[in-house]
Amino acid sequence: MNYLHIKKNRDRLSKNFHPWVYSGALIENLELEPGEIVKVYDEDNKFIAYGFYNPFSKIALRLCEWNENKKIDVNWFKEKIEEAILYRNMLDIKEKTDSFRLIFSEADYLPGLIVDKFGEFLTIQVSTKGIERYINIIIDILVGLLKPQGIYLKIDEEMKEKEKLTLKDSIIYGKIPEEIEIEENEVKYLVNLIEGQKTGFFIDQRVNREKIRKYSKNKEVLDVFCYSGGFSLNSGKAGAKNITSIDSSKIALNILEKNFQLNKLPVPEIICGNAFEILRSLGKENKKFDLIILDPPKLSKKESDKEKALRAYKDLNMQALKIIKNSGILFSFSCSGNISREDLKKVIAWASIDSGRKVSIIENLFQSEDHPIRLSYPESEYLKGFVCYVY
Ligand code: SAH
Repeated sequence: MNYLHIKKNRDRLSKNFHPWVYSGALIENLELEPGEIVKVYDEDNKFIAYGFYNPFSKIALRLCEWNENKKIDVNWFKEKIEEAILYRNMLDIKEKTDSFRLIFSEADYLPGLIVDKFGEFLTIQVSTKGIERYINIIIDILVGLLKPQGIYLKIDEEMKEKEKLTLKDSIIYGKIPEEIEIEENEVKYLVNLIEGQKTGFFIDQRVNREKIRKYSKNKEVLDVFCYSGGFSLNSGKAGAKNITSIDSSKIALNILEKNFQLNKLPVPEIICGNAFEILRSLGKENKKFDLIILDPPKLSKKESDKEKALRAYKDLNMQALKIIKNSGILFSFSCSGNISREDLKKVIAWASIDSGRKVSIIENLFQSEDHPIRLSYPESEYLKGFVCYVY
């Protein structure tokens, strides 16, 4: 097995089980096969971990195993996958839904591998060269353990360039119907695994979609960035007075409409377009809502986006605060990895000042528990949210 050394002043995080090593922290610049598993040492030749090496990536090493006695082979992959599944089996998710995240990348010690289960089907999202290299082994293990009817392989668009990934989106096992029906907390959803965004459905919001119910009864609800209607449907189920759902994707809104019909709920008012502009025009029309959900896409993808993204989050929250009734509720989220919980709180505070509304945070919101937050890898906490009381 090939090996690499991490520079003395750059090895602290790696020794504390953080998975990422930047290329500048490495002593050697070896011509290894992209994705190859290597043994990693400190400058004094003390073993640190095993990791996947990618000479093309800024994150040149992704560490995955800190026990030197392990062999990183088929059995190791199987063990990691089984551990991830075991954790999900321990939770009560299966009583609530047939669809959840089985493997959450670095948080499950498989850097670059996301596996979501949708009923009898799986989607695999690959975002690193290491996982790409071993994908066939991974698929065999998943088929052996879970016996899915089909597996859809997706390549992470954002990471494709950065990692120089060569695989393409494809049905990699069995059959995938155009649309499948899943159920979450007694709400049915149609999911298009092939055309849908991300892995087809935003399962990370499951706990928060359930939470919206207790704030929805008899309320006028505005669901901004609604996708296929996750929050809207749960508000409807809980007896909202009326619902307005906004998204820029026609495909998502078509599914939303079908989802309401599937659940025998009255179809909400649907607005297709840019949420930033629509919020402004709702303000101009003097429209008011009791409950607003802001669940924007990742507005900050890299460090250089952050300042601009903070302003965008602030703008969204300010426009929303302007059209919330007294004693109203705002669910405000960010799924940008580099926007912290404190950052989000800060922009809501700015928005509160500039809109002249009083805001109290009454609940903290997180990604669902099938997306564990690994303490040695704080980046795994990517979805942050607050329930705000506005008066
Ligand atoms: N709340 C949803 C998930 C939202 S994902 C759920 O629970 O399922 C973010 C959504 O924002 C996507 O549906 C995407 O189509 C939409 N979107 C992205 N940019 C937008 C914009 N500028 N205006 C309106 N919608 C936008």
